[in-house]
Amino acid sequence: MSFGAGESGLLWRDGDEAVDLAGLGDVFAQPTLNALLASGPAAWKDAIAAARDHDGPRAPLAGARLPFTVADYVDFYSSLEHATNLGRMFRPDQEPLLPNWRWLPVGYHGRAGSVVVSGTDVVRPLGQRKAPDEGAPTFGPSRRLDFELELGFVVGVGSELGEPVPVEDFARHVFGVVLVNDWSARDIQAWEYQPLGPFLGKSFQTSISAWVTPLALLEEARVEAPQQDPPPLSHLHGGGNWGLDVALEVELNGETISRGNARTLYWTMPQQLAHATSNGAPLRTGDLMASGTISGAEPGTEGSMIELFHGERFLADGDEIALRGRAANGIELGEVRGRVLPARG
Ligand code: CA
Repeated sequence: MSFGAGESGLLWRDGDEAVDLAGLGDVFAQPTLNALLASGPAAWKDAIAAARDHDGPRAPLAGARLPFTVADYVDFYSSLEHATNLGRMFRPDQEPLLPNWRWLPVGYHGRAGSVVVSGTDVVRPLGQRKAPDEGAPTFGPSRRLDFELELGFVVGVGSELGEPVPVEDFARHVFGVVLVNDWSARDIQAWEYQPLGPFLGKSFQTSISAWVTPLALLEEARVEAPQQDPPPLSHLHGGGNWGLDVALEVELNGETISRGNARTLYWTMPQQLAHATSNGAPLRTGDLMASGTISGAEPGTEGSMIELFHGERFLADGDEIALRGRAANGIELGEVRGRVLPARG
């Protein structure tokens, strides 16, 4: 029960099949979801009803493309457990959480142009790497290539420059969610990220599912978000205190290596949206905002290799990662699959 984009127009996922929606009219006869995204909540509701009832041609799921043209891509850092785990590894001699972490959803602007659809292979990136025991960096293939399991939301209706979007207005702007694999080169990241944050260690590729699941279909999977301490400041407060109960799974070469849940995220999606616009930055149709790696408190619920294998194992050439999610009301999110290819050059 989600929308995708195919060769002749939009698609509706019905179990293991894709229903061709092109016959439903203009908005559906498009190469991407963007026109539908821009049409707003009332039209979204009608589109879901029409898609569910539509008796169009059916095809296997495999033909789906990148579902929307990505406008801007923002990546947050919303999981308390992930931020704590990574803080311990990247800054072992300090408090794992930096002083701002509990006050705002930390994030950075990523690269929209390297967001690709599930099934696209990832070429091992080249970059500068410097291990702690090396005196100077060298340039070459990443030796610490990782995946990151994330939940992203897709902006439908944009906003005006200079006008923050309050937490309460989330549903007026956001259409749906996708699973995200934010591929990460830990060695490139660790060397480059201070003081300005991730750059080339993240921008080489980000994979999303071919299917966007409307938030309207996930209302029954809503749960109360974790308690926040200290209480959030006013622009992050009220109306946004909900998360999604989505069971998550990571497969490495066919073997399940992690089982977590998106409900553990500390910062909520409405808070992420409100924070990203709190300075007046506008939203555009097709903006993608991802949660950051989702890790739980229990061993085996971590959303990245560096956490699961304590920095001792990373992705090898030929490895294949698949991310899956199933909401508490039974709705399956589109999977995100990708295989590692050797570095070029
Ligand atoms: Ca990330």
